[in-house]
This record gives sequence, C-alpha cells and structure tokens, in this order.
Amino acid sequence: MINVAILGSTGSIGTSTLDVIARQPERFCAYALTANKNVERIYEQCVQFSPVKVVMVDEASAHTLEQRLKANAQTSHIQVFSGSQALDDIAADKDVDYVMAAIVGAAGLNSSLAAARSGKRILLANKESLVMSGDLFMQAVKDNDAILLPIDSEHNAIFQSMPEQLTRNGASIDSGNALLLAGVEKILLTASGGPFLSKTLDELHHVTPDQACAHPNWEMGRKISVDSATMMNKGLEVIEASCLFNATADDIQVVIHPQSVIHSMVSYNDGSVLAQLGNPDMRTPIAHAMAWPERMNSGVAQLDIFKVAQLNFQQADFERFVCLRLAYDALRAGGTAPAILNAANEVAVEAFLQEQISFTRIAGIVEQTLEQLSSEAATSLDIILVADTQARIIATGLCTA
Ligand code: NAD
Ligand code: MG
Repeated sequence: MINVAILGSTGSIGTSTLDVIARQPERFCAYALTANKNVERIYEQCVQFSPVKVVMVDEASAHTLEQRLKANAQTSHIQVFSGSQALDDIAADKDVDYVMAAIVGAAGLNSSLAAARSGKRILLANKESLVMSGDLFMQAVKDNDAILLPIDSEHNAIFQSMPEQLTRNGASIDSGNALLLAGVEKILLTASGGPFLSKTLDELHHVTPDQACAHPNWEMGRKISVDSATMMNKGLEVIEASCLFNATADDIQVVIHPQSVIHSMVSYNDGSVLAQLGNPDMRTPIAHAMAWPERMNSGVAQLDIFKVAQLNFQQADFERFVCLRLAYDALRAGGTAPAILNAANEVAVEAFLQEQISFTRIAGIVEQTLEQLSSEAATSLDIILVADTQARIIATGLCTA
C-alpha cells in the first residue's frame, strides 16, 4: 500500500487527487489530509477516506474538526494537528510515501521543501514554491534522492514528451547541455489565453473577480484562475519549466492554444515535435504522476479527436499580457526576482479578489514592486523569505495607495 499525504486536500487539485485515489483503493491510501480552514469539506473527506492524520493550519478550525471527528465513532481515531509546522511534519512523516503538494501560493513552500528534504515522491502542483526557491528546491531533490513529478498539466505533458533517458529519476535534469545532447531544441508551453483573450484593453478595466474566475476550459481555485486571466499563470509556468527541465528563458516558447487539448510539446533537432494531448482534466496528470512509470485509470474520458476537430495556435502578445513579460524578465534576472514577482502577484490578486483594485492594476503592482526591490542571489531560504516579505509590504502599500 502506498501512503499519500495530500497537502491542500480541500482544494481543486486535492479533491481531484482523492477522486483518483478512490478508484485505486487497493494501491493507494489517503494517509494524511491537510487544509487551512475548510472544516466542512475536510470532515466529509475524513468520513470517506478515514486518514490516519489530519492537519488544519488554522487552530480554531482544527479544534472544531477534532470535536466533530470525536463525536463520530467512525472517525474518532483520526489524529488532528494544527499550525504550519504540522504541515512540514506530515510532509516528512516516515510513513508517508508520496506527497501531493497542492497548497496554493507561498504558503506551500516549507512543506514542499520538507518533502524534498525527506526524499519523498513529490507530486508538485504548488508551482509558487518552485518559482520562489528554484535552485534550492532542485538541489534538495537531488541531494535527498527525492522524485519530483510535475502535476501542472503543461509540465506533466513536457515531462511525458521528454527523452526517456533524461527523466529516469523524475524531473531532475542535470544541465542544459543534457537537453542539447538529447536533441531537445525547444519547449513549447501551451496556454489557453484565459477568459479574456479577445477582450479589448478598455473592457479589461471593468472585469469582476467572478468573470476572471470563469475559465473557459479548466475549473480551478480562484487564485490560479485570476493568474490564468492575467497570464501570470503562464509566466509562473515558464519559470517552473526552467527549474524542472534546466531550460533557459530562450528555450521556452509560449504558444496560445485556445482549445487546451495539447497540454504542451517538446521540439527536437530532427524536426520531430512530441506532444501530450487529452481532455482538460487534472486527474490525468495526477494519475500519471501517481502511477509513474506505469499507467492507470484516472476516470477521465478518452479524448474524442473528431469532436475537437480543430487545433489552433497563435503567438502570445507580450504587450497585452504584461505579466507574461514580467515573468520572463524575472527569470532572466534570476536570484530573488522570481520570488519578488510571485509575492507581489499574490498580494495584488488577493486585493483584486477583495475588489480593492481593478484587474488591470495587478500587472502594474507587480512591475512597480520589482522596480523598487533589487534582486539578490537566492543562496538561502532566509534570503528568499526576506525578499518575499519585503515584496508583500511594498505591494500591499501600492494596493492601498
Ligand atoms: P485551491 O484554492 O482550490 O485550494 C488550495 C488548498 O490550499 C486548499 O486545500 C486550502 O485549504 C489550502 N490552503 C490555502 N491557504 C493555505 C495556507 N495558508 N496554509 C495551508 N493550506 C492552505 O487551489 P488549487 O486550484 O487546487 O491550486 C493548488 C495549487 O495547484 C496552486 O499552486 C495552483 O497553482 C496549482 N495548480 C492548480 C491547478 C488546477 O487545475 N486547480 C492546475 C495546475 C496547478
Ligand atoms: Mg498549468
């Protein structure tokens, strides 16, 4: 039996992961579940999956959950912990085999790193942790023989399209030279373009959080939905791909592909382009990473290519999607620039969701924060966390100015 810890089990990725686990009860056990505050959802998950341990980061929520679990004979054995240290402990728990890192934002950094340092198989959905701490994270994976498998659908598709000799230990490619030697010329990172691909710049000023969260192809949490609408999500994914596959900014090309059927491609020096296709359903990359190197049923319907009929592609417009340009710039600047970009974006997206700023202010706040804080070499976690804190202070000031 493989014990899985699902960090962020009440979210969109967490729920899809449990759906996959429920289809393979003889192979996987939902050993640990974690959430921030959603007592109702995690209680239902406890009843259905009977985990050994549960973490609610919020103390009051942990207390409420514990009372409810105790009152039910079927769930009274479940151990409840609270606080963020408990998340890191679960990620490093000796009885845990796989860690699904599906917390949203920088809040997932420490637990993702704890999983890497404990040599786990890490199913990485929390792209923000990699964006913040790229080199340190990849080094922790290597030093501790962890296996890192991407859950983000694009990166999972790239992983599946990479030469087998480069992916035997998971996504941990030694050098850019290894890519060249294996004949990889370019990574083609596809993007749907989000819900506002055809809106005029003027119309964008007035969009509401609900409009921004109504993604045409994917159902996701609210933060990543807004990131998809600004295309910061694609920017974060460019940085994520650079870390996972040891690729430079120039090696990665964003391709707008509105159908979201091709999840990404790798182009080779002999003229071949390998792609992974499928219905837009996160259970495919989740099942892929859980079964890897084998395959298993995910519950996702087969792709009906006749129904798809057409696949369209267009260049990404960097003037319109400023966040994408800022992310490329941050990747090229290196050091703490990606962490600053990420922190400012998290603050600005939250302010937009709270209706404190307009949609079009998000990019400006990220840009101004990057201008005000210079990037430093990201040689330690402390340096990264200081940059994160400083960027949040500046971005918060800009949101309220
Ligand atoms: P979500 O908002 O639906 O869920 C977030 C989860 O994190 C919840 O379980 C919540 O309780 C937990 N959480 C939130 N704040 C926390 C905190 N401070 N401490 C501890 N736990 C906290 O988000 P999601 O859409 O499932 O996305 C999760 C991650 O996966 C993100 O990094 C996102 O970019 C990535 N991702 C998501 C999708 C998708 O389809 N949803 C696709 C690719 C990548
Ligand atoms: Mg993605």
